[in-house]
This record gives sequence, C-alpha cells and structure tokens, in this order.
Amino acid sequence: MPAQIIDGKTLAETVRNQVAVETRQLIYDTGIVPHLAAVLVGSDPASEVYVRNKERACQKAGLKSTLHRLDAATTQADLLALITTLNCDMKIHGILVQLPLPMHLDATQILDAILPTKDVDAFHPENTGLMLQGRPRFLPCTPAGVMKMLEVSQVPTAGKHAVVIGRSDIVGKPMAALLVQKGVDATVTICHSRTADIGAICRTADILIAAVGIPEFVKSDMIKPGAVVIDVGINRVNERLVGDVDFNAAMTVASAITPVPGGVGPMTIAMLLQNTLKSARQSAGRTSST
Ligand code: NAD
Repeated sequence: MPAQIIDGKTLAETVRNQVAVETRQLIYDTGIVPHLAAVLVGSDPASEVYVRNKERACQKAGLKSTLHRLDAATTQADLLALITTLNCDMKIHGILVQLPLPMHLDATQILDAILPTKDVDAFHPENTGLMLQGRPRFLPCTPAGVMKMLEVSQVPTAGKHAVVIGRSDIVGKPMAALLVQKGVDATVTICHSRTADIGAICRTADILIAAVGIPEFVKSDMIKPGAVVIDVGINRVNERLVGDVDFNAAMTVASAITPVPGGVGPMTIAMLLQNTLKSARQSAGRTSST
C-alpha cells in the first residue's frame, strides 16, 4: 500500500485560519495588531519568494507586516542599527531577518541582537535554551511545524526511534531537541555529514526526518518498511522544487510521508504567524500589567 501523504498545505491553512480568528479577537480585546517586521538584505531570488510568502500569509491572517529591504552592500553597523530601531518599536512584535545574509555580514551577531521577546524565528540563544529546557517562549518554526504534523497525523512518538539527518541550528538540532522532550518521548539519533554508515542508522528509524539540503538524498533502501518520513528539504533542481527524499521510491516503503512542495514548507510559515500572534499577546499582557 502506498504511503499516506501528510498534507502540510491543508494543515497549514487550518493553523492560519485559527491564527486569523485569534488575531481578530486580540484586536477586538486590546486594539493591538500583531506586527511582523521582516528584513531582507540583497535580492536572492529564493529569499524574495520566502519573504513574499510570509508577508502574504500575515496579511491574509490579519497581521500587519512590514518589509525592510536593504541593499546587498549594507554594512553590519547599518543592519544592527535597524535591528535596534525595530527592537525599540513597541508596535512591532516579531522581527525576522531572512537568511542567508550576504557573506560579508555576521549572521550570528545580527540574530543575537534581536530582542528575545521579538525573536519569532526562535534563533536567539535565550530562546534556544528555553526550548531545550522544555519551557519555550517561542518554538523554532520548521521543527514546530513538523511536530504539529506528527501530532495531527497521530504518529506515535513515545519510545519510538526518531532519526534526524542534519545538525543545523535552524532545523536539525532543534528538531532533535523537540522530539526528545518529555511528553513526546522519542529516542533520538542525529546524523550528519560525518556519520558513518548512515543508511544502517536510518533503517532503524520509526520516524525519519531529512534536513540535509541534498536533493533526493534519502533512498528507499534507507527507510524501514512502515516508517514515517518527514522531508524538510527544499532544493531547486531545473526550476523544480525537490525534497531531500526520493519521494516516489519512498512512497512504496514508508507508511506516511510529507511531500515537497506542500509539506513542511507551508507549516513553517503558519508557525511563524502563530509565534507573532503569541508575541503580540505577551506584549498585551505586559502592557496591561504595568
Ligand atoms: P544546513 O546546510 O545548515 O545543514 C545541512 C545538514 O545536513 C548539516 O548539518 C550537515 O551535517 C548535514 N549533511 C550534509 N551532507 C550530509 C551527508 N552527506 N550526510 C549526512 N548529513 C549531511 O541546512 P538546513 O538549514 O538545516 O536546511 C536543510 C534543508 O532543509 C535544506 O534543503 C533547506 O532548504 C531546507 N529547509 C526547509 C525549511 C522548510 O520550511 N521546509 C526550512 C529550513 C530549511
């Protein structure tokens, strides 16, 4: 039997609709309009698309979004100055710096400069630490989107072996951290570019999560029959979007799988909206208590 498709597009729409309802309620109750400020440096075509999609999603859900476009030659000092301005603006609840930044900029220093209470991407070390300790302020959007998909698809996680391929700070590491939390209770293995015999490890996974950035890296012989396969990868091959999993081959082995496009990608944006709404709510709480 072919694998069940975990439809991220439809689930993301449900989440976005819920955000829209709750946003209207927040505006009605407090007058506060959740506001996301996005910063785009340069004109990388993929980044342009991502930022446009995030802006559109905000607008559709009733959130305000403002795009700050900076020249590719922007200096570190100028970008830091913009972050400071956005940090100080009480009407802004979320700040997003679209990655990757041009090579001459120090992305870590920029991301560290974002006020943790406005860090809706959840990349700041303070938010990473809180998430790791199981008391998150914001959850990182892509791993949180994956967790939501597993939950809604009723994929059992307790005592299951989850293998995450990739150890980036944005996807692989936080993904593993969420899977191992109390209440999720998976046993987690992280594989990376120096892992020996990766196929053998992947074949022991009940849940296999690919965040590698190599088109169709995961072949069917790396998948245990009946495993749930989550494909985080977004790769452009001849103008086509391809995941990190050989989808057609995996379909014949897995019990469930996320497609690319239409899988994890839309969920990431939905989680960003959720974080921005949460931040606006928290600011309302802070305002009313002072
Ligand atoms: P990254 O380049 O920062 O990390 C890739 C990871 O893969 C590294 O940790 C590396 O150790 C590992 N890796 C590389 N080659 C390997 C190999 N041969 N064997 C095993 N591991 C190997 O990338 P990232 O930011 O984590 O993104 C991963 C993929 O996910 C990319 O395709 C990216 O476009 C996609 N992505 C998608 C979303 C989404 O919303 N769906 C969000 C973020 C990233």
